[in-house]
Amino acid sequence: MGETQRVITRRNKSSNRIQVQSNVLETAYPNSTKNVVAFEKSIRNNSFETLAVFDKDGNILLQNRGNETEAEAHATVNVENGILTHNHPNGGSFSDIDIQSALHFNQAEVRVVTDTYTYSMKRPYDGWGVSNRKMIREYKKELKKVSSEYSKRVKEGKITSEEASIDTTHVVMKNLSKKYVWNYTRKIN
Ligand SMILES: [Zn+2]
Repeated sequence: MGETQRVITRRNKSSNRIQVQSNVLETAYPNSTKNVVAFEKSIRNNSFETLAVFDKDGNILLQNRGNETEAEAHATVNVENGILTHNHPNGGSFSDIDIQSALHFNQAEVRVVTDTYTYSMKRPYDGWGVSNRKMIREYKKELKKVSSEYSKRVKEGKITSEEASIDTTHVVMKNLSKKYVWNYTRKIN
Protein backbone atom coordinates (compact mmCIF):
# COMPACT_ATOMS: atom_id res chain seq x y z
CA MET A 1 0.00 0.00 0.00
CA GLY A 2 1.34 3.40 -0.95
CA GLU A 3 2.10 5.99 1.68
CA THR A 4 -0.45 8.40 0.30
CA GLN A 5 -3.20 5.83 0.75
CA ARG A 6 -2.54 5.29 4.43
CA VAL A 7 -4.89 7.88 5.76
CA ILE A 8 -6.41 7.72 9.21
CA THR A 9 -9.77 9.33 9.85
CA ARG A 10 -10.73 10.32 13.36
CA ARG A 11 -13.99 11.68 14.61
CA ASN A 12 -13.53 14.71 16.74
CA LYS A 13 -16.16 14.27 19.48
CA SER A 14 -16.57 17.91 20.43
CA SER A 15 -17.19 19.29 16.95
CA ASN A 16 -18.30 16.05 15.29
CA ARG A 17 -16.01 16.86 12.38
CA ILE A 18 -13.92 14.25 10.69
CA GLN A 19 -10.24 15.08 10.89
CA VAL A 20 -8.08 13.55 8.22
CA GLN A 21 -4.56 12.72 9.27
CA SER A 22 -2.17 11.80 6.51
CA ASN A 23 1.27 10.41 7.21
CA VAL A 24 2.77 12.29 4.27
CA LEU A 25 4.13 15.80 4.34
CA GLU A 26 1.88 17.82 2.04
CA THR A 27 3.57 19.71 -0.79
CA ALA A 28 3.02 23.33 -1.83
CA TYR A 29 0.42 22.17 -4.38
CA PRO A 30 -2.35 19.72 -3.41
CA ASN A 31 -2.40 18.22 -6.93
CA SER A 32 1.31 17.41 -6.79
CA THR A 33 1.58 15.65 -3.47
CA LYS A 34 0.76 12.16 -4.72
CA ASN A 35 3.42 12.17 -7.47
CA VAL A 36 6.07 13.95 -5.44
CA VAL A 37 5.66 11.57 -2.51
CA ALA A 38 5.77 8.51 -4.79
CA PHE A 39 9.00 9.77 -6.35
CA GLU A 40 10.49 10.49 -2.93
CA LYS A 41 9.64 6.99 -1.76
CA SER A 42 11.58 5.55 -4.72
CA ILE A 43 14.76 7.52 -3.95
CA ARG A 44 14.90 7.97 -0.18
CA ASN A 45 17.04 4.90 0.56
CA ASN A 46 19.50 5.31 -2.32
CA SER A 47 23.23 5.77 -1.72
CA PHE A 48 23.39 8.40 -4.48
CA GLU A 49 21.40 11.59 -4.93
CA THR A 50 18.60 12.09 -7.42
CA LEU A 51 16.68 15.30 -7.80
CA ALA A 52 13.52 16.26 -9.62
CA VAL A 53 11.36 19.32 -10.06
CA PHE A 54 7.58 19.00 -10.26
CA ASP A 55 5.04 21.55 -11.46
CA LYS A 56 1.76 22.46 -9.72
CA ASP A 57 -0.07 19.54 -11.35
CA GLY A 58 2.50 16.94 -10.36
CA ASN A 59 4.21 16.70 -13.76
CA ILE A 60 7.94 16.10 -13.65
CA LEU A 61 9.85 18.99 -15.27
CA LEU A 62 13.37 17.69 -14.88
CA GLN A 63 15.21 14.85 -13.23
CA ASN A 64 18.94 14.36 -12.59
CA ARG A 65 20.91 11.59 -10.99
CA GLY A 66 24.05 12.61 -9.14
CA ASN A 67 26.58 11.00 -6.82
CA GLU A 68 26.53 10.39 -3.06
CA THR A 69 26.95 14.05 -2.13
CA GLU A 70 25.23 16.03 -4.86
CA ALA A 71 22.91 16.11 -7.82
CA GLU A 72 22.84 19.30 -9.82
CA ALA A 73 19.78 21.04 -11.17
CA HIS A 74 20.59 21.71 -14.82
CA ALA A 75 17.45 23.52 -15.80
CA THR A 76 16.88 23.36 -19.53
CA VAL A 77 13.20 24.13 -19.05
CA ASN A 78 11.45 26.79 -17.00
CA VAL A 79 11.16 25.39 -13.50
CA GLU A 80 10.03 28.57 -11.75
CA ASN A 81 7.44 28.03 -9.01
CA GLY A 82 8.17 24.30 -9.01
CA ILE A 83 8.74 21.85 -6.20
CA LEU A 84 12.36 20.74 -6.06
CA THR A 85 12.86 17.48 -4.23
CA HIS A 86 15.83 15.15 -3.76
CA ASN A 87 17.38 12.68 -1.34
CA HIS A 88 20.33 13.03 1.03
CA PRO A 89 22.18 9.76 1.60
CA ASN A 90 23.90 11.35 4.65
CA GLY A 91 20.53 11.93 6.35
CA GLY A 92 20.88 15.68 6.90
CA SER A 93 18.72 18.66 6.10
CA PHE A 94 19.19 21.31 3.39
CA SER A 95 22.65 22.45 2.32
CA ASP A 96 23.47 26.03 1.35
CA ILE A 97 23.41 24.85 -2.28
CA ASP A 98 19.84 23.57 -1.83
CA ILE A 99 18.63 26.91 -0.53
CA GLN A 100 20.57 28.66 -3.26
CA SER A 101 18.68 26.57 -5.86
CA ALA A 102 15.35 27.39 -4.20
CA LEU A 103 16.08 31.09 -4.43
CA HIS A 104 17.72 31.00 -7.86
CA PHE A 105 14.87 29.08 -9.50
CA ASN A 106 12.27 30.79 -7.30
CA GLN A 107 10.84 27.44 -6.21
CA ALA A 108 7.52 27.19 -4.38
CA GLU A 109 9.05 24.51 -2.17
CA VAL A 110 12.25 22.54 -1.68
CA ARG A 111 12.29 19.10 -0.11
CA VAL A 112 14.85 16.56 1.04
CA VAL A 113 14.13 12.95 1.90
CA THR A 114 16.27 10.50 3.83
CA ASP A 115 15.66 7.01 5.19
CA THR A 116 14.34 8.60 8.40
CA TYR A 117 13.02 12.07 7.60
CA THR A 118 11.26 14.29 5.10
CA TYR A 119 12.38 17.92 5.20
CA SER A 120 10.36 20.66 3.54
CA MET A 121 10.69 24.37 3.14
CA LYS A 122 7.90 26.32 1.48
CA ARG A 123 8.26 29.78 0.01
CA PRO A 124 6.48 32.44 2.06
CA TYR A 125 3.57 34.31 0.49
CA ASP A 126 5.76 37.39 -0.07
CA GLY A 127 8.66 35.46 -1.57
CA TRP A 128 11.91 34.15 -0.11
CA GLY A 129 12.87 37.60 1.17
CA VAL A 130 16.66 37.38 0.98
CA SER A 131 19.33 37.59 -1.71
CA ASN A 132 21.34 34.50 -2.55
CA ARG A 133 24.58 36.14 -1.53
CA LYS A 134 23.27 37.18 1.88
CA MET A 135 21.65 33.80 2.51
CA ILE A 136 24.92 31.92 1.78
CA ARG A 137 26.78 34.18 4.17
CA GLU A 138 24.16 33.63 6.89
CA TYR A 139 24.06 29.89 6.28
CA LYS A 140 27.84 29.56 6.62
CA LYS A 141 27.83 31.66 9.77
CA GLU A 142 25.10 29.53 11.37
CA LEU A 143 26.79 26.32 10.23
CA LYS A 144 30.04 27.31 11.89
CA LYS A 145 28.28 28.18 15.14
CA VAL A 146 26.06 25.08 15.28
CA SER A 147 28.88 22.73 14.16
CA SER A 148 31.11 23.83 17.01
CA GLU A 149 28.28 23.30 19.53
CA TYR A 150 27.66 19.81 18.18
CA SER A 151 31.30 18.77 17.99
CA LYS A 152 31.57 19.70 21.66
CA ARG A 153 28.67 17.36 22.43
CA VAL A 154 30.30 14.59 20.42
CA LYS A 155 33.56 15.01 22.34
CA GLU A 156 31.64 14.85 25.60
CA GLY A 157 30.11 11.57 24.43
CA LYS A 158 26.54 12.93 24.58
CA ILE A 159 25.73 12.07 20.96
CA THR A 160 27.33 10.13 18.14
CA SER A 161 29.00 11.96 15.27
CA GLU A 162 26.37 10.54 12.93
CA GLU A 163 23.55 12.06 15.03
CA ALA A 164 25.48 15.31 15.17
CA SER A 165 25.90 15.54 11.42
CA ILE A 166 22.16 14.94 10.87
CA ASP A 167 21.04 17.45 13.49
CA THR A 168 23.54 20.18 12.64
CA THR A 169 21.97 21.14 9.30
CA HIS A 170 18.51 20.81 10.85
CA VAL A 171 19.33 23.33 13.58
CA VAL A 172 20.95 25.65 11.01
CA MET A 173 17.73 25.52 9.00
CA LYS A 174 15.57 26.09 12.07
CA ASN A 175 17.57 29.20 12.97
CA LEU A 176 17.51 30.61 9.43
CA SER A 177 13.78 29.89 9.05
CA LYS A 178 12.99 31.72 12.24
CA LYS A 179 14.90 34.74 10.99
CA TYR A 180 13.35 34.84 7.50
CA VAL A 181 9.94 33.40 8.47
CA TRP A 182 10.36 30.45 6.12
CA ASN A 183 7.93 27.59 6.53
CA TYR A 184 10.40 24.84 7.47
CA THR A 185 9.32 21.38 8.63
CA ARG A 186 10.96 18.07 9.41
CA LYS A 187 8.76 15.02 9.60
CA ILE A 188 9.77 11.55 10.70
CA ASN A 189 8.76 8.90 8.16
ZN1 LIG B 1 20.68 18.70 -1.06
